[in-house]
Amino acid sequence: MKRSSLVSRSILGFLLLFGAAILAAQVPNPYRDPSQPVDEEYSKKIREYTTDPSFLSPLVEYLPASRTVPTPQAVLGDIAGAPGRLPYSADVHRYMRMLEKASPRVKVYSIGTSEEGREMIAVAIASEANMARLEENRSRLAKLADPRMIKLDDAEADRLIAASVPVYYITGALHSPETGSPTALMELAYRLAVDESPYYKAIRDGVITLITPVVETDGRDRQVDIYNWHLAHPNDNWPPLVYWGHYVAHDNNRDAMNLSLKLSRNVLNTYIGWKGQVIHDLHESVPYLYDNTVGDGPYNAWVDPILADEWQLTGWNNVSEMTKFNMPGVFAHGTFDTWSPGYLTFMAASHNGISRLYETFGNAGADTVERTLTPGQYERTWYRQNPPLPKAKWSQRNNNNYQETGLLISLSYFAANNRMFLRNFYLKSKRSVEKPRTAGPAAYVLPADDPRPGLQAQVLRVLQLQGCEISRATAPFTVLIPVKKKPPEKPGEAASPAKKDEPPPPRQFPAGSYIVRMDQPYSRIADALLDYQYWSPNDPQKSPYDDTGWTLGELANVQVFRVTDLKVFDAAMEAVSGEVRSAGSVEGAGAIFAVNHNADTALMTFCYRLRNAAIEAAEEPFEAAGHKFNRGSFLLKNVSRTDLERAAVDLGLRVYALSEAPTVKTHRIRPARIALVHTWQSTQDEGWWRQAFDLLAIPYTYISTQDIAKDGNLNSRFDAIVFSPVGRSSASIISGMPMWGNPLPWKTTELTPNIGKIDSTDDVRPGLGWSGLQNLELFVRRGGLLLGSGDTSDLAVNYGLAPGVSITPPTRLKVVGSVLKSTFVDPASPIAYGYGDTLSVYCDGGLIFGVSSILGGRGGRPAPETPTRATGRGTPDDLDTPQTLKWVEPPPLPKAEPWQALPVTDEQRRNGINVIPPHLRPRVVLRYADAKDLLVSGLLDGGAEIAQRPAVIDVPLDKGHVVVFSNNPIWRAETHGTYFLVFNAILNFDNLNAGRKLDEK
Ligand SMILES: [Zn+2]
Repeated sequence: MKRSSLVSRSILGFLLLFGAAILAAQVPNPYRDPSQPVDEEYSKKIREYTTDPSFLSPLVEYLPASRTVPTPQAVLGDIAGAPGRLPYSADVHRYMRMLEKASPRVKVYSIGTSEEGREMIAVAIASEANMARLEENRSRLAKLADPRMIKLDDAEADRLIAASVPVYYITGALHSPETGSPTALMELAYRLAVDESPYYKAIRDGVITLITPVVETDGRDRQVDIYNWHLAHPNDNWPPLVYWGHYVAHDNNRDAMNLSLKLSRNVLNTYIGWKGQVIHDLHESVPYLYDNTVGDGPYNAWVDPILADEWQLTGWNNVSEMTKFNMPGVFAHGTFDTWSPGYLTFMAASHNGISRLYETFGNAGADTVERTLTPGQYERTWYRQNPPLPKAKWSQRNNNNYQETGLLISLSYFAANNRMFLRNFYLKSKRSVEKPRTAGPAAYVLPADDPRPGLQAQVLRVLQLQGCEISRATAPFTVLIPVKKKPPEKPGEAASPAKKDEPPPPRQFPAGSYIVRMDQPYSRIADALLDYQYWSPNDPQKSPYDDTGWTLGELANVQVFRVTDLKVFDAAMEAVSGEVRSAGSVEGAGAIFAVNHNADTALMTFCYRLRNAAIEAAEEPFEAAGHKFNRGSFLLKNVSRTDLERAAVDLGLRVYALSEAPTVKTHRIRPARIALVHTWQSTQDEGWWRQAFDLLAIPYTYISTQDIAKDGNLNSRFDAIVFSPVGRSSASIISGMPMWGNPLPWKTTELTPNIGKIDSTDDVRPGLGWSGLQNLELFVRRGGLLLGSGDTSDLAVNYGLAPGVSITPPTRLKVVGSVLKSTFVDPASPIAYGYGDTLSVYCDGGLIFGVSSILGGRGGRPAPETPTRATGRGTPDDLDTPQTLKWVEPPPLPKAEPWQALPVTDEQRRNGINVIPPHLRPRVVLRYADAKDLLVSGLLDGGAEIAQRPAVIDVPLDKGHVVVFSNNPIWRAETHGTYFLVFNAILNFDNLNAGRKLDEK
């Protein structure tokens, strides 16, 4: 807390002199212990690799010498941030272990592995005394983290706080092209272990620094490969980092809600396990140091206001101290909103700690280059009084200087105020426990009679991963649930209020219902995930940084009740121990087995696991053995009961043995041979689809658009080609990257051992090409299924693979990663199997589809309010009757709903070359809800443009089908409720016309 006033005064003096005096080493650096020798050679190189003295601070301009502890040079062969040096993750870890061996102040922990099996570590650094008492400290922090352990006793909390040291967790290299943090963190760890100055000593005494130097180890190693390739080919362009992690690229920083990636779980478990107070995540995209801890509005609505204050405190302190060092380009606030809880660092925010994030300036590699900024980057604004330079030579060392200086200031501030921050931590934890009686709600209830127990368990497992406690009712219970006001039918009308004095109706939940109590320390993350989100179209923030809605229950298609009635705590319940799983079994006797289709994703695994059995899908609902089965339910024959029992138990599915087959109409399910397609331009969105298929053990072949271009007989290998969104225009998917310059290989070589494993090519530049497009068309015409979403739907529509479907450009529609309501309009389509009447879907942008029975028709029609009659006699609804001698009453105009094609007129059918035959017309399966019901969660403006429009269309093309999605059904391991729209199409690829009603003409 207190530094001697002598030191403070000398710091002030130093600050006045520092800028000019950096080269004159005789001026004493007040942050340094003059009695500790400096590693002169290393320090000289720091100054050499720093391109301007103003990019250096007194905290890092020297490196203290140690006779026993190796510097990063031991592994790097040069200093941290040296040009041309990027260490692999294993090298970084090796250095940290060298530190551990050499210093009692350092300890390295293995915290898990990546998808590809690379290790992740956490390095703890503190004083010898703190290191010796890590366990005692942790058990005290555990009581502050869960104040129920001390019965919310503030006095006891104060005693614990006085004896405890907080944990400040720093994470680096989450984003692989942002390459600077590993070397910065290696050197930071060395400094923290070795430097004997009071400044460093205060940090070691006041805080336990925890460091994961490389979060995305798979991507880091690939990035180092690419950089080494670049060094070996200095005159060539180098390949873009097509794959970062095994599945996703920058979206590894959007997984903090669903925790589907191993790195997310490893970081959260480390943070929770250490009972940490901060996660400080390092990124590189903004010059020179943007501390976006403060960020911009809107702030996440579920965090404790204490945290919002801590963001200001820590962020502005950082800016202030670095401004005093005369380092240009340090600022906070910025334009990044803090709404979504999906960011890695937000794990701390949603678990009673403090989330912090730096964007520093990296060169995506270790080259020193001239960097020219845009006016938007260098112009002064109120929150950036001290902007970066419009043009400067920039080095990896500069970046490391900024990262280390900022982190040291943060650690110093945290150590100096550690009692306050620990007390805040305790208060936030306590207030989370008190939530039912303060802000509410009391609990969320997931009823035992949900028709989708497997998906329900999926949601609950996410909460368990988040560290939330789940309870289960052991008897039925009743609570009052307020009625939601109905929105007005027409704008201008008042909402129908609940009748005065009318008590909310009681609702009984059956025994076995799950209860997520809010009187627990991690109630906030459960609340944030299960609640609804509303982002006003009038919000001053016009550019949401990420998704605006994410309601987990809606996206999983399971029921979640927000209960404010405190009587919920009177329910008989027990804590759930172990992972929540839905119960699976085979009941009854007989050789035919029925499984209800409820759109549980496990059914897809089931069908592929038992693909040697004879599986039929029922085309109508039926009843058998006293149970009701939905349309699409599965009937199995020729399957061993043992195999079936094992599958049912593993997958949590209820199977019923029948002595005879029900009389319902069925068709055969022949699990399709699937191709998952990727481009070489972006694998980011595709990765979430690939992950979903892997996690559900759905077999597929992974091919690129280049493979499609070369294969004129795709049908010989595949039945279904799944072309998930790319994030590029259709034209760009076809053309690929520009063909000028040198080839850009993505291959495993001695120089690049970590790339080319997921897929490989000699040159990433060529795209799908016209031959690829032709091969896709042939594939469909011969009976294949092509499935697209978003931009790949656009590709299918605009390049003639989906006759009768059109896309209208939006004029007002704004939907940014929101949850929208949709309605099934053709429940007999196999794509609708297992679903109810409505479904919440994830929508970002959202293609506005129209359908027509006329080839090239736009399917457009006037807006509902547009006047339709001409000037003449009578009222607006009357028919005009011209004052002529002979007048024929006009026939009624063709009418259709916005999701339907207009009926074909006789005029159109006369020589109807362009009239699509009824059996080849687009079949709309799912449409967006009416405007008033459309928004479920997030931001929606101008929703009328997409309201009632088709969302999922099955388009026959010759013998095959093209299925296009306006929404993205597989997104960030978050949309389990819509996965089966895709799976149904695949399972029924050769029977998609089942249940189809054809137009008469
Ligand atoms: Zn980043």
